[in-house]
Amino acid sequence: MEHLVLWDIDRTLINAGGGGKAIFLSAYREVVGAEPPSLPDFGGRTDHYIFTTALTGHGRGVDDRLTALFLDTLAAHTEAAREQIRANGVALAGAAAAVAALAEVPGVVQTVVTGNIRDAARIKLAAFDLLGPMDLDIGGYGGEHPVRSVLVRLARDRAERKHGVALPDHRVVVIGDTEHDVEGALHNGVTAIAVATGGATVAQLHAAGAHTVLESLADTAALLRAIGVA
Ligand SMILES: [Mg+2]
Repeated sequence: MEHLVLWDIDRTLINAGGGGKAIFLSAYREVVGAEPPSLPDFGGRTDHYIFTTALTGHGRGVDDRLTALFLDTLAAHTEAAREQIRANGVALAGAAAAVAALAEVPGVVQTVVTGNIRDAARIKLAAFDLLGPMDLDIGGYGGEHPVRSVLVRLARDRAERKHGVALPDHRVVVIGDTEHDVEGALHNGVTAIAVATGGATVAQLHAAGAHTVLESLADTAALLRAIGVA
Protein backbone atom coordinates (compact mmCIF):
# COMPACT_ATOMS: atom_id res chain seq x y z
CA MET A 1 0.00 0.00 0.00
CA GLU A 2 1.44 3.35 -1.12
CA HIS A 3 -1.76 5.40 -1.21
CA LEU A 4 -4.92 4.99 0.84
CA VAL A 5 -8.14 6.43 -0.61
CA LEU A 6 -11.02 6.88 1.84
CA TRP A 7 -14.27 7.41 -0.04
CA ASP A 8 -17.41 8.99 1.32
CA ILE A 9 -20.45 7.31 -0.24
CA ASP A 10 -23.61 9.46 -0.25
CA ARG A 11 -23.49 12.34 -2.73
CA THR A 12 -19.84 11.62 -3.45
CA LEU A 13 -20.12 8.26 -5.26
CA ILE A 14 -23.89 7.83 -5.34
CA ASN A 15 -27.17 9.59 -4.74
CA ALA A 16 -29.55 7.22 -2.98
CA GLY A 17 -32.51 9.39 -3.97
CA GLY A 18 -33.65 10.19 -0.44
CA GLY A 19 -33.93 6.49 0.35
CA GLY A 20 -31.43 6.73 3.20
CA LYS A 21 -33.57 9.10 5.22
CA ALA A 22 -36.75 7.05 4.74
CA ILE A 23 -34.94 3.90 5.87
CA PHE A 24 -33.49 5.72 8.88
CA LEU A 25 -36.98 6.93 9.89
CA SER A 26 -38.58 3.49 9.56
CA ALA A 27 -35.88 1.97 11.77
CA TYR A 28 -36.22 4.83 14.26
CA ARG A 29 -40.00 4.32 14.51
CA GLU A 30 -39.57 0.60 15.11
CA VAL A 31 -37.01 1.05 17.90
CA VAL A 32 -38.27 4.23 19.60
CA GLY A 33 -41.98 3.85 18.87
CA ALA A 34 -42.42 7.44 17.72
CA GLU A 35 -41.35 9.94 15.08
CA PRO A 36 -38.23 11.93 15.91
CA PRO A 37 -39.30 15.49 16.80
CA SER A 38 -36.44 16.86 14.73
CA LEU A 39 -33.46 15.57 12.80
CA PRO A 40 -30.07 17.09 12.04
CA ASP A 41 -29.05 17.56 8.41
CA PHE A 42 -27.86 14.10 7.33
CA GLY A 43 -25.09 15.42 5.04
CA GLY A 44 -21.70 14.29 6.30
CA ARG A 45 -23.13 13.06 9.60
CA THR A 46 -22.77 9.55 10.97
CA ASP A 47 -25.81 7.36 11.65
CA HIS A 48 -24.64 7.13 15.26
CA TYR A 49 -24.70 10.93 15.55
CA ILE A 50 -28.08 11.30 13.83
CA PHE A 51 -29.69 8.68 16.07
CA THR A 52 -28.33 9.98 19.35
CA THR A 53 -29.11 13.60 18.38
CA ALA A 54 -32.70 12.66 17.50
CA LEU A 55 -33.10 10.75 20.78
CA THR A 56 -31.80 13.67 22.78
CA GLY A 57 -34.28 15.93 20.95
CA HIS A 58 -36.92 13.49 22.17
CA GLY A 59 -35.80 14.07 25.73
CA ARG A 60 -34.72 10.43 25.82
CA GLY A 61 -31.48 9.37 27.45
CA VAL A 62 -28.91 7.90 25.07
CA ASP A 63 -27.75 4.45 26.05
CA ASP A 64 -25.46 2.03 24.29
CA ARG A 65 -27.93 -0.84 24.30
CA LEU A 66 -30.60 1.22 22.55
CA THR A 67 -28.05 2.57 20.04
CA ALA A 68 -26.86 -0.98 19.27
CA LEU A 69 -30.47 -2.12 18.81
CA PHE A 70 -31.12 0.81 16.48
CA LEU A 71 -28.04 0.07 14.36
CA ASP A 72 -29.08 -3.60 14.01
CA THR A 73 -32.60 -2.54 13.05
CA LEU A 74 -31.21 -0.05 10.55
CA ALA A 75 -29.17 -2.85 8.95
CA ALA A 76 -32.28 -5.01 8.60
CA HIS A 77 -34.34 -2.17 7.12
CA THR A 78 -31.54 -1.32 4.68
CA GLU A 79 -31.33 -4.96 3.59
CA ALA A 80 -35.11 -4.99 3.04
CA ALA A 81 -34.86 -1.83 0.93
CA ARG A 82 -32.04 -3.13 -1.28
CA GLU A 83 -34.14 -3.21 -4.48
CA GLN A 84 -35.66 0.17 -3.75
CA ILE A 85 -32.19 1.70 -3.35
CA ARG A 86 -31.13 0.23 -6.66
CA ALA A 87 -34.30 1.47 -8.39
CA ASN A 88 -34.35 5.02 -6.98
CA GLY A 89 -30.66 5.77 -6.59
CA VAL A 90 -27.94 6.56 -9.08
CA ALA A 91 -24.16 6.44 -9.29
CA LEU A 92 -22.85 9.97 -9.74
CA ALA A 93 -21.08 11.01 -12.95
CA GLY A 94 -17.55 9.66 -13.10
CA ALA A 95 -17.82 7.59 -9.90
CA ALA A 96 -17.47 4.19 -11.55
CA ALA A 97 -14.66 5.42 -13.82
CA ALA A 98 -12.78 6.95 -10.87
CA VAL A 99 -12.99 3.81 -8.74
CA ALA A 100 -11.99 1.64 -11.72
CA ALA A 101 -9.06 3.91 -12.66
CA LEU A 102 -7.71 3.86 -9.10
CA ALA A 103 -8.03 0.08 -9.02
CA GLU A 104 -5.56 -0.02 -11.91
CA VAL A 105 -2.91 2.02 -10.09
CA PRO A 106 -0.43 -0.26 -8.28
CA GLY A 107 -0.20 0.50 -4.57
CA VAL A 108 -3.59 2.23 -4.29
CA VAL A 109 -5.91 0.80 -1.65
CA GLN A 110 -9.54 1.96 -1.65
CA THR A 111 -12.07 1.80 1.15
CA VAL A 112 -14.77 4.01 2.67
CA VAL A 113 -15.17 6.49 5.49
CA THR A 114 -18.91 6.93 5.61
CA GLY A 115 -21.73 7.99 7.89
CA ASN A 116 -23.43 4.74 6.86
CA ILE A 117 -23.28 1.57 8.89
CA ARG A 118 -21.21 -1.16 7.28
CA ASP A 119 -24.17 -3.16 5.93
CA ALA A 120 -25.63 -0.07 4.27
CA ALA A 121 -22.25 0.79 2.75
CA ARG A 122 -21.97 -2.69 1.27
CA ILE A 123 -25.54 -2.66 -0.08
CA LYS A 124 -25.23 0.83 -1.61
CA LEU A 125 -21.86 0.17 -3.28
CA ALA A 126 -23.00 -3.22 -4.60
CA ALA A 127 -26.22 -1.71 -5.99
CA PHE A 128 -24.17 0.53 -8.30
CA ASP A 129 -21.30 -1.86 -9.09
CA LEU A 130 -18.79 0.12 -7.03
CA LEU A 131 -18.02 -2.56 -4.46
CA GLY A 132 -15.43 -4.62 -6.36
CA PRO A 133 -12.25 -2.59 -5.72
CA MET A 134 -13.24 -1.51 -2.19
CA ASP A 135 -11.82 -3.28 0.85
CA LEU A 136 -14.65 -2.84 3.35
CA ASP A 137 -12.75 -4.71 6.10
CA ILE A 138 -10.63 -1.61 6.68
CA GLY A 139 -13.34 1.09 6.40
CA GLY A 140 -14.66 3.53 8.99
CA TYR A 141 -18.42 3.37 9.54
CA GLY A 142 -21.15 5.62 10.90
CA GLY A 143 -22.26 3.08 13.48
CA GLU A 144 -18.86 3.16 15.17
CA HIS A 145 -18.67 6.71 16.44
CA PRO A 146 -20.61 9.97 16.22
CA VAL A 147 -17.55 11.97 15.12
CA ARG A 148 -16.39 11.57 11.55
CA SER A 149 -12.71 12.35 12.14
CA VAL A 150 -12.55 9.32 14.45
CA LEU A 151 -13.73 7.15 11.54
CA VAL A 152 -10.86 8.48 9.41
CA ARG A 153 -8.39 7.47 12.12
CA LEU A 154 -9.99 4.02 12.52
CA ALA A 155 -9.85 3.33 8.79
CA ARG A 156 -6.24 4.48 8.46
CA ASP A 157 -5.18 2.37 11.47
CA ARG A 158 -6.94 -0.69 10.05
CA ALA A 159 -5.38 -0.25 6.62
CA GLU A 160 -1.88 0.31 7.98
CA ARG A 161 -2.15 -2.71 10.29
CA LYS A 162 -3.48 -4.95 7.51
CA HIS A 163 -0.79 -3.90 5.03
CA GLY A 164 2.00 -3.59 7.57
CA VAL A 165 3.01 -0.05 6.56
CA ALA A 166 2.75 3.42 8.03
CA LEU A 167 1.83 5.90 5.31
CA PRO A 168 2.96 9.52 5.31
CA ASP A 169 -0.05 11.78 5.94
CA HIS A 170 -0.18 13.12 2.38
CA ARG A 171 -0.59 9.60 0.99
CA VAL A 172 -3.91 9.24 2.85
CA VAL A 173 -6.77 10.93 0.99
CA VAL A 174 -10.35 11.56 2.04
CA ILE A 175 -12.82 12.22 -0.80
CA GLY A 176 -16.18 13.64 0.24
CA ASP A 177 -18.90 16.19 -0.46
CA THR A 178 -19.35 18.08 2.82
CA GLU A 179 -17.44 20.30 5.20
CA HIS A 180 -17.60 17.39 7.66
CA ASP A 181 -15.60 15.20 5.29
CA VAL A 182 -13.01 17.97 4.88
CA GLU A 183 -12.84 18.53 8.63
CA GLY A 184 -12.42 14.80 9.22
CA ALA A 185 -9.40 14.78 6.90
CA LEU A 186 -7.80 17.96 8.23
CA HIS A 187 -8.22 16.84 11.83
CA ASN A 188 -6.08 13.81 10.95
CA GLY A 189 -3.54 15.81 8.96
CA VAL A 190 -4.38 13.98 5.72
CA THR A 191 -5.37 15.18 2.25
CA ALA A 192 -8.92 16.44 1.71
CA ILE A 193 -10.42 16.27 -1.78
CA ALA A 194 -13.93 17.66 -1.98
CA VAL A 195 -16.54 17.25 -4.71
CA ALA A 196 -19.36 19.76 -5.02
CA THR A 197 -22.01 17.14 -5.80
CA GLY A 198 -23.66 17.31 -2.38
CA GLY A 199 -24.96 20.06 -0.18
CA ALA A 200 -21.87 22.27 -0.25
CA THR A 201 -20.70 24.66 -2.96
CA VAL A 202 -17.19 24.86 -4.40
CA ALA A 203 -16.64 28.08 -2.40
CA GLN A 204 -17.84 26.49 0.85
CA LEU A 205 -15.57 23.48 0.37
CA HIS A 206 -12.60 25.76 -0.33
CA ALA A 207 -13.44 27.77 2.77
CA ALA A 208 -13.56 24.54 4.80
CA GLY A 209 -9.91 24.01 3.83
CA ALA A 210 -10.07 21.27 1.20
CA HIS A 211 -6.74 20.81 -0.58
CA THR A 212 -8.56 20.28 -3.88
CA VAL A 213 -12.17 20.98 -4.82
CA LEU A 214 -13.69 19.40 -7.91
CA GLU A 215 -17.10 20.16 -9.41
CA SER A 216 -17.70 16.41 -9.66
CA LEU A 217 -15.87 13.13 -10.25
CA ALA A 218 -16.40 13.42 -14.01
CA ASP A 219 -12.77 14.43 -14.72
CA THR A 220 -10.90 11.26 -13.79
CA ALA A 221 -7.50 12.70 -14.74
CA ALA A 222 -8.02 15.71 -12.44
CA LEU A 223 -8.94 13.39 -9.58
CA LEU A 224 -5.86 11.20 -10.10
CA ARG A 225 -3.66 14.32 -10.12
CA ALA A 226 -5.25 15.54 -6.88
CA ILE A 227 -4.57 12.16 -5.25
CA GLY A 228 -1.00 12.30 -6.49
CA VAL A 229 -1.04 9.19 -8.68
CA ALA A 230 -0.91 10.84 -12.12
MG1 LIG B 1 -21.62 12.52 1.68
